[in-house]
Amino acid sequence: MKITLLGTATSQGIPVIGCDCATCISDDPRDKRLRCAALVEGDNHTLVIDVGPDFRAQMLRADVKDLDAVLLTHEHNDHVIGLDDLRPFIFRRRTPMRIYAEQRVLDEIKERFKYAFEEHAYPGAPKFELLPIHPGDTLEYGDMRITALRVHHGRLPILAFKINQLAYLTDTKTIPQTTLNQIQDIDVLILDALRREQHHSHNTLDEAIAQSKAVKADKTYLIHMSHILGPTASWEQDLPAGVYPSYDGLSFEF
Ligand SMILES: [Zn+2]
Ligand SMILES: [Zn+2]
Ligand SMILES: [Zn+2]
Repeated sequence: MKITLLGTATSQGIPVIGCDCATCISDDPRDKRLRCAALVEGDNHTLVIDVGPDFRAQMLRADVKDLDAVLLTHEHNDHVIGLDDLRPFIFRRRTPMRIYAEQRVLDEIKERFKYAFEEHAYPGAPKFELLPIHPGDTLEYGDMRITALRVHHGRLPILAFKINQLAYLTDTKTIPQTTLNQIQDIDVLILDALRREQHHSHNTLDEAIAQSKAVKADKTYLIHMSHILGPTASWEQDLPAGVYPSYDGLSFEF
């Protein structure tokens, strides 16, 4: 099983349009970050976690030819607004794309992509099969066993996903005990770390490090960074053993 981090930035991406801070002008390729999403490839199936505004560029860059389904963590635009760009996959297969998310998120998608759900939708509109899931639900795609997990994005309850021995948690502020138990001692933890300063709905760098310790993951990769955190080279040395900065295109077997 293989995961590829397609994007690793917070909602504005890095560089931020018009910004000339040290991160945004950095020539370290790791500091060019698209919005967060991940590609998961098993023996015979390919899934994507979140479909943000950079989805098209991400699919081209990773040379993805086919997708079986989409898992959505939550309804914020940086995680869903690229859904229209699923059309090439939908047209090629001639079947609606399966979208797994919580009912609240699916309702929001019906609002934001209203044209896709009209009775007489125009022929070029995407077609989605909306499939509600709840924390604790398990899906099987070939050799992938996916469990939906609950995490809290400030006051918003959202989903995270455990796929075999990997857990993907984005936009996290607190991890409930039930979820901690489900991912305890996991091989790989992917977790967000926005910046050093407090934020009402995202982990700071220190909070992410503390959560990684609580989970006792073998390896933790940090995602969803803001340009405010600074260039990767300015903070990576502060990470304890087993915690690593991620970058777009980072790919490994698990
Ligand atoms: Zn900047
Ligand atoms: Zn969010
Ligand atoms: Zn986000």
